[in-house]
Amino acid sequence: MSSRVFSVILLPTAECNVACTYCFENKEPHRLPMLLVPLLTRQLLDHLEHEDIEECEIYWQGGEAMIMGPAWFVEAGKIMNDAAAARGKRFTHYLQTNLISYSPAWNDVLFSLFGGSLGTSMDFPNHHRKLFKGGAEAYSATWRKRLLQAQEAGLEIGVIAVLHQGSLDAGPDLFYRHYTEELGVSSFQVNTPFPGGPAQAVAAEFDLDKAALSEFLSGLFDIWMERGYHHGIKVGPFDSLIDHFTGAPARLPCIWKENCSNQFISVDSKGTVAQCDCWVTSYPESFFGNVFRDGDLTKMLRTSPARREFIERPKHLMEHEDCLSCRFLSICHGGCPVRTYSALGTMLAKDPYCEVYKAVFSRAEIHSRSLLRRRFLTGSKPANSFGTGRMTAPAVELAEKNAGSPVND
Ligand code: SF4
Ligand code: SF4
Ligand code: SF4
Repeated sequence: MSSRVFSVILLPTAECNVACTYCFENKEPHRLPMLLVPLLTRQLLDHLEHEDIEECEIYWQGGEAMIMGPAWFVEAGKIMNDAAAARGKRFTHYLQTNLISYSPAWNDVLFSLFGGSLGTSMDFPNHHRKLFKGGAEAYSATWRKRLLQAQEAGLEIGVIAVLHQGSLDAGPDLFYRHYTEELGVSSFQVNTPFPGGPAQAVAAEFDLDKAALSEFLSGLFDIWMERGYHHGIKVGPFDSLIDHFTGAPARLPCIWKENCSNQFISVDSKGTVAQCDCWVTSYPESFFGNVFRDGDLTKMLRTSPARREFIERPKHLMEHEDCLSCRFLSICHGGCPVRTYSALGTMLAKDPYCEVYKAVFSRAEIHSRSLLRRRFLTGSKPANSFGTGRMTAPAVELAEKNAGSPVND
């Protein structure tokens, strides 16, 4: 049996209970009918069998996934897990939510189905995440109240922050202190933005100057290494880069995987299959097919012309970009197709964040070298054991898929 893991970003609804200004969702009031969960499950399990894969990670997102209610997840989770167990397979479930409708009524299913952890999102400063009534300020207040309730319930919470001009203006020190001191979270992740879907008025605020963004991220990396790394604070994607450069097992974000099409698909509430949530909600021209209509998921993935472009992207980059001569090629692989597509209208080019990635990789190298030196001299062990065991919710892996987008949660 292969040790490969297949990951599915599952959007049970596109509906949402808030109104972020940067949202690329088409918030159709459609929900995944429970009646179709067995069919979807069978399709996924058949695919695992065809590909000789034992485990499938399900990243539940939206729209807003909590709109489905806790009872829906109890039932869907049972259908999926029972069917997987009967075929010697395993689903591992993660939840990404905006937390706005969280209440203690969710705790049972959060502990039983989601391993006591969840991922949520909050930017700093919050300019764009808004309630229908009351705007960004009311959103922040409600979100903080829910965060506190969830923390008190003992849930492990990972937070995704999408960087925007306001974050750069605030600077890395204020930014870091906001998450760790004001919010009291021990796991957060910074995502680079991109304008998914149709052009929007806020897009300009996300078109960040690459040099300024590199400087911000390098500064944040340094602050985390100095104040957080040795004290159990996780900051993604820096933590996985430190793992990588110190030779520990590293779980790098999808944007730096050899080819994201080897591991992920996204399925929406109508059964539409695409590379990830960013594509399924923004770019219909890149759909792979429909899991309820097309019968055989494996065949769909093997024959989809839209998917072929993803598969062939690395080869194209080697031939037409300077990635081949880049010393970070083995970690970056040319970056994220959707960031490239949203900026350039084609995925057959290297990621427009190339320069930013190089700055962050260089920082990771420097910090890793000094960690290794220190370990060698003192005989000490790594302060963190990132990359092993169950990750803190989607904050580590799933969130990276959404990175930067107008996060779909
Ligand atoms: S970005 Fe996420 S939380 Fe915000 S409106 Fe869109 S789906 Fe809802
Ligand atoms: S976010 Fe980018 S790298 Fe990740 S799955 Fe989507 S297209 Fe691939
Ligand atoms: S850092 Fe830039 S040049 Fe290097 S592999 Fe990534 S996209 Fe290509």
